[in-house]
Amino acid sequence: MHSQKDLQNKLFQIDGKGYKAYKSIRGQYNFGDYILSIDSVQGDPFASPSKARVIVSQDKARFPQNLFDKSHKNIAVCDFLTRLFSKNINKYYDKVSGSGKSGLLTVDRPGQEILKRTSVVINENSVEARFEVGLPAAGRKILGKNANIIFSKALPKIVENTLFYNNIDTSALQKHVELAVDQNHLRNLLKEKGYIAFIANGSVLPRESGVSDKPLIKGAVPFKSPESLEVEFNLPNRGKIKGMAIPEGITLIVGGGYHGKSTLLRALERSVYDHIIGDGREYVATRENAVKIRAEDGRRVEKVNISPFINNLPNGQDTIRFSTENASGSTSQAANIIEALEIGTDLLLIDEDTCATNFMVRDKMMQQLVSKDKEPITPFINRVRDLYEKNGISTIIVVGSSGDYFDVADNVIMMDEYIPYDVTSRAKEIITKFKVNRSNTNNDFINESPRILLKSSFPRTSKGVKIRTKGLNTIMYNRTPIDLKYLEQLVDTSQTNCISVAIEYIQKNLVNDTMTITQIVNKIYEIIDEKGLDELSSFSGHPGNLALPRKHEMIGALNRFRHLNIK
Ligand code: ADP
Ligand code: MG
Repeated sequence: MHSQKDLQNKLFQIDGKGYKAYKSIRGQYNFGDYILSIDSVQGDPFASPSKARVIVSQDKARFPQNLFDKSHKNIAVCDFLTRLFSKNINKYYDKVSGSGKSGLLTVDRPGQEILKRTSVVINENSVEARFEVGLPAAGRKILGKNANIIFSKALPKIVENTLFYNNIDTSALQKHVELAVDQNHLRNLLKEKGYIAFIANGSVLPRESGVSDKPLIKGAVPFKSPESLEVEFNLPNRGKIKGMAIPEGITLIVGGGYHGKSTLLRALERSVYDHIIGDGREYVATRENAVKIRAEDGRRVEKVNISPFINNLPNGQDTIRFSTENASGSTSQAANIIEALEIGTDLLLIDEDTCATNFMVRDKMMQQLVSKDKEPITPFINRVRDLYEKNGISTIIVVGSSGDYFDVADNVIMMDEYIPYDVTSRAKEIITKFKVNRSNTNNDFINESPRILLKSSFPRTSKGVKIRTKGLNTIMYNRTPIDLKYLEQLVDTSQTNCISVAIEYIQKNLVNDTMTITQIVNKIYEIIDEKGLDELSSFSGHPGNLALPRKHEMIGALNRFRHLNIK
């Protein structure tokens, strides 16, 4: 292994030379307290930045093992250290200048959620942080002295104040981990006690703005459970906590426009993930496999059995193995539900703001005008009880406009000036006066014919296959975009990166014309469980920019892929 001095000498040597000479700094350097590993070097100052790691052995880093002895605690420690690394870059590094990406120094940047990531890895032997550096140049001439400032001046300070237990705010770290333990416990309690969601009193659900996931500070009305739905849980660190627990079954959220219905549902959607201290949703928990369902016209659908909702389409289109390049509002929503059931869910989350109206209800007058045999859609209201009673799948649904749903609900919660009230008995009283008969299809929700993923789903060009992430919502497969905009529970660009590398992994290693799309996605998660998230990446120098999405978003991306080919 080289020494720190070797790196410095090399950087001075190549100062002023052409950019390619940077390739010579690849390798590992002993900095005394840690090892710097420069794993990949960019080809020019405008290319994606170079990738590097620092590795500190635990006899120097000294993180107590009991902080990361469970998977959810390990994730919390890595999350904490990633955030701290980022903060310390700002604190200890004055950006050096140069052309293109010169002088960039970044680590993955988590948002409000705590996710399993590759940016920091900790175990009993070592702690390791992965970051990116834009190796500095003027035009295409190496600025070796500026590079030396990054590696020999800034980085040592950042590492010293991030990866050594005795140098950091250990009580903040402790709290971060304790919260993760509580959240994990809370989610386990939900399942054990037959609840689908919990929102602690005092939670702050609204966000700062439509484009910010930070909490609204000014004028936020804290959450307060109606008495009838209030329960008390005992958490290992926080102790007793009270809030609204939503039981399994069908729950309506009603109320006037602008009274906070969608905000409540959105908090539930996001609370399949843990949130950081100060977020406002620290003690909001939803079953982790809950899926937001919405209309998504224009999406592609590949051989999905939408017959539980849609039959007798004009021109005899098959709805048992339904395919389209351009789904309608209702067919897309039906496909979204069936696909969620296929990967597995306990809970559907629906907001009428983003639904196809004709998928949700058909009122009595319309039923009289358009005869049943001319209407292919069995609306969701006719199937929502079957979903629960036959398949055990609960639904929480925001309905501001259709009282028809009172009839099928177990609980009705009314939002009034951001405060929830239990109006179940009033809603039931009203509905007895308007009793309706609902005709039903009985088509089973479970698909008998498995959806086998075919190799031909992954066409190659003469240059092979190139998969890239373009922001949170788009993956480019060669030149075909996969649009993830309506996977609303995809929350972090690093999750999108992870889906990109997973698709590449599937294409290279898994797809074999015999496994179903669900088996393949489950296999990916087995591999991650066994070997870690790094395993998916073909980059040998360890990727720092992956975060684990749920299976639901991973399969959601595949299901939207326009080359997807199912047997
Ligand atoms: P609805 O879906 O009932 O029409 P929204 O959930 O969209 O209403 O909320 C309307 C507005 O009120 C949004 O700007 C939202 O940020 C804000 N809001 C929601 N809940 C609260 C709250 N608890 N305190 C303060 N403002 C809130
Ligand atoms: Mg709304």
